[in-house]
Amino acid sequence: TDPAVIRNFCIIAHIDHGKSTLADRMLQLTGVVDDRSMRAQYLDKMDIERERGITIKSQAVRLPWKDHVLNMIDTPGHVDFSYEVSRSLAACEGAILLVDAAQGIEAQTLANLYMAMEADLHIIPVLNKIDLPAAQPEKVAEEISGLIGCDPAEVLRVSGKTGVGVAELLDKIVAEVPAPVGDANAPARALIFDSVYDTYRGVVTYVRVVDGRITRREKSLMMSTGSAHDTLEVGVISPDPISTEGLGVGEVGYLISGVKDVRQARVGDTVTMASKPAPEALGGYDTPKPMVYSGLYPIDGDDYPLLRDALDKLRLNDAALVYEPETSLALGFGYRCGFLGLLHMEIVRERLEREFNLALISTAPSVIYRVEMENGQEHVVTNPSEYPADGKIAHVYEPVVRATVLTPTEFIGTIMELCQGRRGVLLGMDYLSEDRVEIKYTLPLGEIIFDFFDQLKSRTRGYASLDYDPAGEQESKLVKVDILLQGESVDAFSQIVHADKARDYGLMMTTKLKELIPRQQYEVPIQAAIGARVIARENIRAIRKDVLAKCYGGDISRKRKLLEKQKEGKKKMKTIGRVDVPQEAFVAALSTG
Ligand code: GDP
Ligand code: MG
Repeated sequence: TDPAVIRNFCIIAHIDHGKSTLADRMLQLTGVVDDRSMRAQYLDKMDIERERGITIKSQAVRLPWKDHVLNMIDTPGHVDFSYEVSRSLAACEGAILLVDAAQGIEAQTLANLYMAMEADLHIIPVLNKIDLPAAQPEKVAEEISGLIGCDPAEVLRVSGKTGVGVAELLDKIVAEVPAPVGDANAPARALIFDSVYDTYRGVVTYVRVVDGRITRREKSLMMSTGSAHDTLEVGVISPDPISTEGLGVGEVGYLISGVKDVRQARVGDTVTMASKPAPEALGGYDTPKPMVYSGLYPIDGDDYPLLRDALDKLRLNDAALVYEPETSLALGFGYRCGFLGLLHMEIVRERLEREFNLALISTAPSVIYRVEMENGQEHVVTNPSEYPADGKIAHVYEPVVRATVLTPTEFIGTIMELCQGRRGVLLGMDYLSEDRVEIKYTLPLGEIIFDFFDQLKSRTRGYASLDYDPAGEQESKLVKVDILLQGESVDAFSQIVHADKARDYGLMMTTKLKELIPRQQYEVPIQAAIGARVIARENIRAIRKDVLAKCYGGDISRKRKLLEKQKEGKKKMKTIGRVDVPQEAFVAALSTG
């Protein structure tokens, strides 16, 4: 294809603002999917994506439109995947900024818009859902024009639902988005903007050719690893895969090589041809770094090998997931896993439970702490139970983020209160319009992964949105709080918290556990401690009478049932010191903050 007729674009939108629905209309209008085969959210193939309504994996679809070829590249919409977003943007020359005309722009959209502007993409602002009675196109167009410096009248108005304005949008893409430019005679260079593991085909890599030509006749070479692979298939997606001889300058498509897992064909890497490799890779390559760690344990210890196999399989499809075996006194054998963020963590856990039929306990998420000892030694701690013993610690550093909250002005007070309570430092406020404001804070990441998002949503009835970027680390007064049952520390409950919040955490856990752990034959103290210093304490009182005494009357069958139940329950007990703790207590104690 002549690059002059190619237009590569993506859609930047907040979840639910109608990206998938608009894509459906584009598939229909361009004749890629006929009316009979059309179903809602056609491109959202993954189950998990359909149910959660979010896009985890991007796709690329080729849309023929009036002698032009439009390639629509899907971008993930969540803060955890911002590196993948940046690579999708790098594969495009233009971006549609799609905003729900009844909602206005949201924090994540704003973050991605800024990223697109920095990447010099041509931005086409679009208001969606103009068919809604609650739509406020004038007001939202005003907001958008303030952000990107266009005339409010230039903002297109469409409805993905009715199809109004969609043809005009396609025309505008042709007219305004620049055609790709590249050197057709140079050695091949193609940017990987997504990599997906497919059970039948192996790894399918989505690429955008920058220079030269990717052909199926030659071996392909991944420039970050220097490894060459047989090229099995090259093609375009429209909307099903169509294999072709090759891909030239500006083209977008897929590549299947002998690569076994997505780690060997990472997002951001450059593909070249082994026979005539490019001297230099495309810029911007980066490997994903886990930001949040958590222990994953099978509720039934016998499932440990299943969990291991499941993680090995998931990893084929997820280059950002890291894990290593870990043992916990309380929870047995499991894995310490690293994730890009909370959503990534939830997705992995959900897939493990759903696709592999595992019942899991996860320990409280933890960020990465850097601990400097007085003797100059340094520890990187991703698990509170590995925190070095107190006393010889010189400095502790925790990761911080720059957070942006977009909110109606009426919630400024409650948001500031929330951020202040989480050790936030206010950086500034910008008004998008009279009644919408962007609030910026520096916040410790450890405070955000602890229930921050839910708090924000409930305090603002869902109106505020959040985005954040890593912003280095800061020294903090952090301590490890241990929870002890009858003098014995329960590793799964240890937590690293700010010194000022240690007592709150201790009180919360001791009260919670008092309710969750059944009475024993003897009194059991539950303590929260920093090193040897106890900061909170509760007691589980001893059972006074035999449990059978609860059964008044002489109903023998009922007594037998109770005994059996007790026996069954025993099996699921973990013994900590001399204390029997039911599995449920761990699940409940670790479930919410
Ligand atoms: P996505 O999360 O951005 O992909 O959004 P979806 O395309 O899944 O749309 C979210 C919800 O908005 C769905 O219930 C759609 O039916 C609805 N929706 C999408 N576009 C329109 C529109 O133009 N008008 C109306 N009234 N509803 C829309
Ligand atoms: Mg969608």
